[in-house]
Amino acid sequence: MSILEKMKLTGKTAFVTGGARGIGKSVAIAFAQAGANVVIADFDIAEAEKTAAEIAKEEGVKSIAVQTDVTDQASVNHLMDVIKQQFGKLDIAFCNAGICINVPAEEMSYEQWLKVINVNLNGVFLTAQAAGKLMIEQGTGGSIINTASMSAHIVNVPQPQCAYNASKAGVIQLTKSLAIEWAKHNIRVNSLSPGYIGTELTLNSKDLQPLIKEWNAMAPLHRLGKPEELQSICVYLAGDTSSFTTGADFIVDGAFTCF
Ligand code: NAD
Repeated sequence: MSILEKMKLTGKTAFVTGGARGIGKSVAIAFAQAGANVVIADFDIAEAEKTAAEIAKEEGVKSIAVQTDVTDQASVNHLMDVIKQQFGKLDIAFCNAGICINVPAEEMSYEQWLKVINVNLNGVFLTAQAAGKLMIEQGTGGSIINTASMSAHIVNVPQPQCAYNASKAGVIQLTKSLAIEWAKHNIRVNSLSPGYIGTELTLNSKDLQPLIKEWNAMAPLHRLGKPEELQSICVYLAGDTSSFTTGADFIVDGAFTCF
């Protein structure tokens, strides 16, 4: 079998949190193009349904949307119940939903701090934990990919985002901890650390508009990344050719963190 054949995800089931748009949507499309059935788990059900309908056009795959709030354990458990009922099993979890609030540390309210930590770190814990529990119950192993950020590695000035940076650093250490705990179940857990990617989170944020020019100037490739440029690494991590890859973090940032 060729390496491309081996990389296929045919017959596997994936969920993608924050899958309605941006990076999540792009990776969900890639999972489906590689042959997986994909569940779009997003707070924004209207957009999630549009994305699932678009993905369901891929030949031989099924895609549904399930309204999910990653910060609510009951909602995450409901997602797992739907996956069990509709697909019978779970193979791939992309715990990707995240938010950003840019406020100087001295002005950040505790509510703002908690909101960011709650979605970006607690949400990844709740979804990865639920996915891991289901994979352990199934006894099939699986692949969990958690979205961190280059902001876990550097404090990318000038925007002040201490809660975001701390939440993403937490995702990397959580990922390593789960990789160790669940290695015995053949559940691999890795994280993805994107650099600046042109999505609604960046392009539609009023706060960030003045900074985009600056980032482009600073970036070695002089541009933001595109969501599609994260697809192949996620397909690799999701599938069986990455069978010895666990507990690792993958920085995809056009060398932004190299200097
Ligand atoms: P986006 O804002 O375009 O999409 C995020 C999606 O998450 C939205 O569909 C939103 O409805 C959903 N979401 C938000 N809160 C949720 C919740 N509580 N429960 C379920 N869904 C929820 O963002 P994006 O740029 O695609 O970012 C995706 C991930 O990548 C985030 O974790 C983000 O921190 C990370 N990231 C993004 C960049 C970037 O430059 N865009 C860089 C590094 C890391």
